[in-house]
Amino acid sequence: MTNYEEEYPQWNDWHWQMRNRVFNAQQLSKWIPVSDELRSEIESCTVRFRMAATPYFLSLIDPDDPDDPIRKQCIVSSKELELCPGDMHDPLNEGGSSVTPHIVHRYPDRVLLLVTTQCAMYCRHCTRRRIVGERDCSPTIEELDKELDYIRAHKEVRDVLISGGDPLTLPTDRLEAIIKRLREIEHVDIIRIGTRVPCVLPMRIDDELVSMLKKYHPLWMNIQFNHVRELTPESEEACRKLADAGIPLGNQSVLLNGINDDAETMKALLLRLVHNRIRPYYLYQCDLAEGIGHFRTTVDKGIDIIHQLQGRISGFAVPKYVIDAPGGGGKVPINYEYVKEVDGNKIVFENYEGGLYSYLQPGGEKNDG
Ligand SMILES: *Cc1c(COP(=O)(O)O)cnc(C)c1O
Ligand code: SF4
Repeated sequence: MTNYEEEYPQWNDWHWQMRNRVFNAQQLSKWIPVSDELRSEIESCTVRFRMAATPYFLSLIDPDDPDDPIRKQCIVSSKELELCPGDMHDPLNEGGSSVTPHIVHRYPDRVLLLVTTQCAMYCRHCTRRRIVGERDCSPTIEELDKELDYIRAHKEVRDVLISGGDPLTLPTDRLEAIIKRLREIEHVDIIRIGTRVPCVLPMRIDDELVSMLKKYHPLWMNIQFNHVRELTPESEEACRKLADAGIPLGNQSVLLNGINDDAETMKALLLRLVHNRIRPYYLYQCDLAEGIGHFRTTVDKGIDIIHQLQGRISGFAVPKYVIDAPGGGGKVPINYEYVKEVDGNKIVFENYEGGLYSYLQPGGEKNDG
């Protein structure tokens, strides 16, 4: 990295990183070798799905490894043009749960507020690929303010999740205008930001942003790190600043075929996250968005990875494995079945090593649990 910083004096300026994002094969060839085959793959795929990656994230690629986990997340593949059984245009039916153009209200006490379609990088496995990456557009603050009337009128909304696209690609004053309006709503208790910026554009986490955010506590942040190699000195520094500002950090990984779908790789990621005071929150089963079939694993694999880790590493290092139910049912935890038998008031269950234990619960009635 140091050599990039020397070669590009503005390397640590996030605006420079955004301006110098890579959208096509020619720009990519500045950062990694681009074969003729890759060039034509990129040309045919970007007609359908846009590519964009920051020079920073591209610099993490090992050019000698065709299966590099960083590369697979940011560089298009012709596999994206293959339709797989089950593919859906809007798998989570966010369209159907939208109450205004930019608010999705699916759960009783919390809403999702989509403040921009822009991301620093377009992840190849993105579930919102139908809206992000098409065109960078963000509603104006006046438009959003009108939509916030929905939240103002719904007193049950105590948690607002600001997402997109990536909210941290907005200018700080613009983001503050949104957060400030939310803070003024008395029944809104928690404000959360969902972002991949600390991972793909860590220089964006500057002092100006952090001191703005810390004025609006309780404010939580969920990041998406998928592989331990994404935890670089730069991204760790970004997370340190956020944690030092009292922002509880969570991580939402996606289980990705050939990237993080074995217990050892996952464990390395999780331990590095907790080292950085980032609490693993969710591990998502890769959803049914179009063109991401090659990233999907079986559900058994996800269950097995969590089962292998549970009990073997700190409890708070193990995320919840969830499927975001196709059609809009929300996130559902999918677990290994530890309860082996329920016989009357006796429950027989397994511990992490496979040993069987039992527990006598109150009541003696036959219970067909
Ligand atoms: C994921 C999500 C949330 C937040 O869910 P948590 O389980 O509380 O993290 C809220 N609204 C929508 C529509 C979501 O998809
Ligand atoms: S940062 Fe999130 S919304 Fe943006 S492309 Fe990646 S997964 Fe999709």
